[in-house]
Amino acid sequence: MKMLLNDSMIERTNIVDIEDRGYQFGDGIYEVIGVYEGRTFLLDEHLQRLQRSASELRISLPYTLENLKAKLNELVKVNELNEGVIYLQVTRGTAERWHQFPENTRPNLVAYTKEEEVMTELEESGAKAVLTEDIRWLRCDIKTLNLLPNVLAKQKAIENGAVEAIMHRGNIVTEGSASNVFIVKDGTVYTHPANNYILNGITRQKVLEICRKNKIAVHEETFTVDDLFQADEVFITATKLDIIPIIQVNERIIGNGKRGKVAETLLQDFRASIHHLVEN
Ligand code: PMP
Repeated sequence: MKMLLNDSMIERTNIVDIEDRGYQFGDGIYEVIGVYEGRTFLLDEHLQRLQRSASELRISLPYTLENLKAKLNELVKVNELNEGVIYLQVTRGTAERWHQFPENTRPNLVAYTKEEEVMTELEESGAKAVLTEDIRWLRCDIKTLNLLPNVLAKQKAIENGAVEAIMHRGNIVTEGSASNVFIVKDGTVYTHPANNYILNGITRQKVLEICRKNKIAVHEETFTVDDLFQADEVFITATKLDIIPIIQVNERIIGNGKRGKVAETLLQDFRASIHHLVEN
């Protein structure tokens, strides 16, 4: 497998400099981009978000987005990736360990591909989630390498036989440990607004677009843990997870305990946009 490492496509290597700031401080950003049938999905949107994360942290990307796009498409090709993801990471660079930004240091950019199948079974059967307090910082809109709270939350989910941990700040549901959360009540879809409390998922944005196109009422509004329990449907979205219905939260069954109509319609349309991409 080849990796993109700043200027070159090279064979995979496991060498990370001990003074890479990503390694020591989590001082960096990343993206996970879906690949379906050998084609990247929503790559421009992911790169725009990368650019935004970079500028919020005052990291300057070593490539233009156009150049990076070409390189990532090449990476998918040389690795012959059919179904999976590209993982892309940019750190502030390698420098002597001081907390403040180093001077004259180039950011380190690394990308590799990973095979990953879509969880089609879960998309139909639905899955269980657990609740957990959101203990993250107040800039969750930046896709940074600091994922310790997300790691702890996901571990709690797995230990409880669930696929995802849904986080809440006090009474307000924010998002999943690695996904966005939606509820449906009386035909209307709700999801947390894209502010500093959540990551504005690329899949989330696509789902909002599909709702609007299909005239499904949708509100980017906060909702409570109780609203979640009382919802007709709950579903989560993320790259390559696509749209997974949540049929149980903690010990409570959501709706009738089966995938709901809205999630089904949205998933069909989501799949259609992937096929459209592949055929064009
Ligand atoms: N929120 C968090 C905290 C995430 O880690 C992810 C997945 N990266 C998402 C939401 C979903 O984002 P996307 O649809 O862009 O994968």
